[in-house]
Amino acid sequence: MICPVCESSNTVFAGDIFRFDQPFSIRKCQDCKSSYQYPAPKNSDLFYTDDYYSGKAVFSYIDERKIDKYARYVWNARIRNLQKFQKGGIFLDVGCSFGGLTRSASKYYLSYGIDISRYAVNQGNEFSKQTSQNKNFKGLFCGDLLNFPIAEIKNSSVAVVTMIEVAEHLENPVEHFKKAWELLMPGGVFLIQTANMTARQAARAGLNYHYYLPGHLTYFSEQGIEALLKKIGFTSVIKYFPVEFGLLPKLLKMRGNFTSWRDYFRWINVIYYHLSSFLRYKGEPLTSSMVVYAIK
Ligand SMILES: [Zn+2]
Repeated sequence: MICPVCESSNTVFAGDIFRFDQPFSIRKCQDCKSSYQYPAPKNSDLFYTDDYYSGKAVFSYIDERKIDKYARYVWNARIRNLQKFQKGGIFLDVGCSFGGLTRSASKYYLSYGIDISRYAVNQGNEFSKQTSQNKNFKGLFCGDLLNFPIAEIKNSSVAVVTMIEVAEHLENPVEHFKKAWELLMPGGVFLIQTANMTARQAARAGLNYHYYLPGHLTYFSEQGIEALLKKIGFTSVIKYFPVEFGLLPKLLKMRGNFTSWRDYFRWINVIYYHLSSFLRYKGEPLTSSMVVYAIK
């Protein structure tokens, strides 16, 4: 029952979540304030069926191919910020799905993506063939960091590893983060986006917080993820609240799902969320959105 983030045995039962077909239990670490599903679901791979990626499952990934032109505003903004740290070299997106970020990265980097879904990888490679002719796009591969599928990528050779909303799906984040560290070259960047569970938004909602989902196995605190990355050997950790880019790319991306002029009112909520993310209450950010850069 040790904490999957800091490996402390000082953990307590936090409660059961009953609002899904399959109830699950959460334990919380008293030391690093992360929480996790315990017991972990037996076959968590089964969440990631073709239906998950095509939007037909109950818990689905949003198929960003339909809004590719709009989603690209966010991908490009991410890449622009990474340019401040690493200008070129090998780029690897872990949990790449249909490869949107990998395609954006190919403007500057030799870009690769990996995903555990063969369906997403095949569809993403097909989509890439139709939409981009960039020779720096090296393709999407089926696998994960622990069953690493790309033989041509050696340890200490990668400039950037990204993990966008993936870390919370891992039962054993320590092993995956270690592998990211091994792949990176000195000075390389490991980007992780996941919720900060000690933020006011998550703390106030408690177990009703919408981030508690059957497929989310590990819930990080700001302090827990930073300590873990440093323990693995990353020399510095930079944290961004809410994200590492501004408001505009987010608003432009949203337009991809707009069907009437009334949808523009939805911008108000997003602007409010974005601005309140910069505020803190008793030292904690008001909202849970967090992006972490760990530098090797
Ligand atoms: Zn812990």
